[in-house]
Amino acid sequence: MDLKPLIFDLNLTDLQHILADWGQPAYRATQLWQGLYRGLATHPGEITNLPRRLGEQLESAYRFTALEVITVQRSSDGQTTKTLFRLPDGNAIEAVLMAYAERRTLCISTQAGCAMGCVFCATGQMGFKRNLSRGEIAEQVLFYARQLAARGEAVTNVVLMGMGEPFHNYEASLEAIDLLNQPDGFNLGARRFTISTVGLVPAIRRFAQERRQINLAISLHAADDELRHSMLPINARYPIADLLDACREYVDLTGRRVTFEWALIQDVNDTPAQAQRLAHLLQGLLCHVNIIPLNPTQGYAGAKSTPQRVAEFQRILNAAGVPCTVRVRRGIDIQAGCGQLASSDA
Ligand code: SAH
Ligand code: SF4
Repeated sequence: MDLKPLIFDLNLTDLQHILADWGQPAYRATQLWQGLYRGLATHPGEITNLPRRLGEQLESAYRFTALEVITVQRSSDGQTTKTLFRLPDGNAIEAVLMAYAERRTLCISTQAGCAMGCVFCATGQMGFKRNLSRGEIAEQVLFYARQLAARGEAVTNVVLMGMGEPFHNYEASLEAIDLLNQPDGFNLGARRFTISTVGLVPAIRRFAQERRQINLAISLHAADDELRHSMLPINARYPIADLLDACREYVDLTGRRVTFEWALIQDVNDTPAQAQRLAHLLQGLLCHVNIIPLNPTQGYAGAKSTPQRVAEFQRILNAAGVPCTVRVRRGIDIQAGCGQLASSDA
């Protein structure tokens, strides 16, 4: 397949070099950048301050989209929208918009599929297809930003919690945030981003060293190695003690709180014993626990916990001084909930 390079795979410095090579004055790169990331242009013709000739040259050298919309689904509550996109190589990915009060949160994908094989996750059940490029990751945000702009709204938060493991595609994930963070362009602050990881310890340590303002969430889901391993195979490589050590290092280096994700599964990880063990593990760590009743997926028979179990789990953590909130399950009717993203036609 002979594809032109994707314009969103270039950062501002790359564009400056390219346009300088083309004999353009230095300000043209900024005009193009602002047209794409502020004006949310979908092709150079929409960037009115660019000369037409330059626009044509850009269009003959670069692709201005990697995402073809296949389907759009809206949840019955009207607040969640899921879009399935086809990539040029035929792989498919999904991205979700969640509107809640003043927030417009996007959940975006970093890989087509996922190699981590977590048993209760639809993306894990489909296996790994490939990494997304930084431009393919960033363009999911621009896609929804254009829709929101048309109704006078803007993206407020971005979570890298869609398909894929962001720390298994470390550079592209961080570079996509850089593209969107750039002050002359999209200018979404680092604190508006959250990276969620299954717990790749070396990557967590590397991320800690970068001392960025990006939020970090860790998918923990179990408080002992045997149980965690049965749900998240990666635990064999990075057991809980090592994972929590890396989290402590992150908190020490950044002063930032870590979020732990916990999908509550009836009679699996929702017992008072698990809650007590978790509370014990997290003593003294600057953190917060997000619990969410399991979302159904085809390849996993486990059920979500009853409201009583959820309440009891939360009560035990809070009583032990561990802050804990229950997340509302959203978009379940359109398989847009956590762990439900899978592209069946990929
Ligand atoms: N790979 C990253 C981010 C994508 S998954 C990670 O695992 O953290 C986003 C979140 O959804 C993770 O916390 C994951 O554990 C959770 N999740 C996966 N399957 C789920 C399911 N069926 N119900 C609820 N949460 C699920
Ligand atoms: Fe991958 Fe995250 Fe799903 Fe695990 S939960 S299979 S790491 S996407």
